[in-house]
Amino acid sequence: MHSRHLSREGRLDFALSLSTTRAVLISAGALIDGNGAAPMRPGVVLIEGDRIRAAGTHVDAPEDAERVDIPNATIIPGLIDCHVHLSDAGLADASVQDHDASGLRILRMAEHARRTLASGFTTVRDAGGRDHLEFALRRAAQEGLIRTPRLVLAGKIVSMTTAGASSWPGMYRQANGVSEVVKAVREQLAAGADVIKIMATGAVLSPGHERPTSAQFTREELRAAVDTAHAMGLRVAAHAHGIDGIRRAVEAGVDTIEHGTHLHEDLGVAKEMAARGVFLVPTLKALERIAEGAGVPEDMRAKAQDRRSDRDRTFRAALEMGVPIAMGTDAATPFNRHGENAEELALMVSLGMSPLAAIAAASSVAARALGRGDIGVIAQGRLADVVVWDGEPFEDIRSLQRAPLAVFLGGERVV
Ligand SMILES: [Zn+2]
Repeated sequence: MHSRHLSREGRLDFALSLSTTRAVLISAGALIDGNGAAPMRPGVVLIEGDRIRAAGTHVDAPEDAERVDIPNATIIPGLIDCHVHLSDAGLADASVQDHDASGLRILRMAEHARRTLASGFTTVRDAGGRDHLEFALRRAAQEGLIRTPRLVLAGKIVSMTTAGASSWPGMYRQANGVSEVVKAVREQLAAGADVIKIMATGAVLSPGHERPTSAQFTREELRAAVDTAHAMGLRVAAHAHGIDGIRRAVEAGVDTIEHGTHLHEDLGVAKEMAARGVFLVPTLKALERIAEGAGVPEDMRAKAQDRRSDRDRTFRAALEMGVPIAMGTDAATPFNRHGENAEELALMVSLGMSPLAAIAAASSVAARALGRGDIGVIAQGRLADVVVWDGEPFEDIRSLQRAPLAVFLGGERVV
């Protein structure tokens, strides 16, 4: 009885797979698997349904497989940006859009998501949205109304009460004391969050009197946020510029440090991050653009200019010490626009990272930072998020700033 049931189910599965599983064979001059290994030449990937079936220099494909042959191009994993804010547009002063209708704001978010996907980024982690509209955006994508990258969502940023948190309407959940912090974290989970974002220090884009070097939240509050999130299977991302806040966040057990600007001031903390696999998401581009941006409020601009050299020293130290570095842009801080995410990789390379390592930071390492074992590498069984780029980005990282020739999201060609 039992085995007959199984075999009947097996035949049904087989019949379904004949009628629905589509195979696509992509061939190009080279393939980078995302793990940092040297490119394979030529490069071939076989996609079946939403998964990668095989990859290498040669792959046997079914007769009826659709063939996509792009010579002089390179196949790489769909890129991952670990730090974006789809709610914002990258204006010099974001506050001019603070009071727009939510319908207008969600249309903008859909356009930001579209541009990001078209530029080869198939997954983004939204590190703080506004009014939880990002959950509606994801729902619209699930209903097939729009197309977005895969969305890993934080919901609102959990922060102690500050003028900075108050000056970004709808983006922060202010909480003070252990029990309020626990409640704030649980609210994000209830809304559908995949990750919790907390503020461990002040921010650059806060009023002038708030310093990015000041630690925020007590050790007890940080630990409460981490314990509550981890108990529910969510990872924790901590915004932290100053070394005291970075140290507290790492001690509390967070999974990623966002920005990490002053980490170079205590290399013992960097050593701890390397040993425990706490990821640094450097967001180099954010400071760069704020520091240079005409029209950015002067106090914020000065804070960015003051710490560009700290940012560079931290990046080089983290690289040397083996702190896992995951790529993130912090789009859309001022002049840091959605769809221009690949500029971050060029900045990483300018500070000493190899192009192959930079691509890994935006694929396999980023996937690990997000706790996603199903994306980030071109390998059998992974989701078929695959991008084809003209030229050889492992020689010239700037080629990623041109539009990709093809983008596959879960096996479906979207560009
Ligand atoms: Zn951010």
